[in-house]
Amino acid sequence: MKIGLLEDEVEQARNLSASLVEKGHACEFFHTGQSFLYAVTHNSYDLLIMDWQLPDMEGTDALRAVRKELNWKIPVIFLTQRDSEEDIITALEAGADDYLVKPARIGELVARISALSRRASSEEEEKDDLIVQGPFSIDLHARTISCHGEPLTLTDKDFDLAVFMFQNVGRLLSRNHLLERVWGVSTEINTRTVDTHVSRLRRKLGVNPENGFRIKTIYQHGYRLETVTR
Ligand code: CA
Repeated sequence: MKIGLLEDEVEQARNLSASLVEKGHACEFFHTGQSFLYAVTHNSYDLLIMDWQLPDMEGTDALRAVRKELNWKIPVIFLTQRDSEEDIITALEAGADDYLVKPARIGELVARISALSRRASSEEEEKDDLIVQGPFSIDLHARTISCHGEPLTLTDKDFDLAVFMFQNVGRLLSRNHLLERVWGVSTEINTRTVDTHVSRLRRKLGVNPENGFRIKTIYQHGYRLETVTR
């Protein structure tokens, strides 16, 4: 699993990351709330571990940003020195899925990571096969998409791209992130591929304000599918 770790104590971050890598995970760590939020907006992670006290913001605020602004349902474990009942409640209410008090026992942490990821993947399986967003309706099982009930024809990759974008409405998706998730490559292959596909989606799907959506180009970063209220 690819884990994003927010921990301002450099040594702690390094040790924890090394332990997670030893247990077969990949881990990238960040020392400030800002750099962490930048990273989670531009990369793909499967789970986040977050500290509370940070030099530039409260971990709970960073978590609220992940949940509300990015609208991301990724599993999040809070790992902090703060251990009062009130703190635990605050973190859970901000959107944490689990809470551990430092120092973390690595065995327990890894077990909790596995438990959360099992829960996340079973929720994914149970998820409806249908995504309905405004006039757009996507049947994940039949791999069909329609707008106002009119079926639309898309290539395989365009379909996957449309699904991923409609699953992440409002979230900035970088070209590399899209390549990784839709094309399954993390290497720097030509990111223009993404541009070509996105402009085709706009046209073929009719992603435009008349249908209540637009795909906004974020200069030098990527794209965001947004709802448009008229
Ligand atoms: Ca700290």
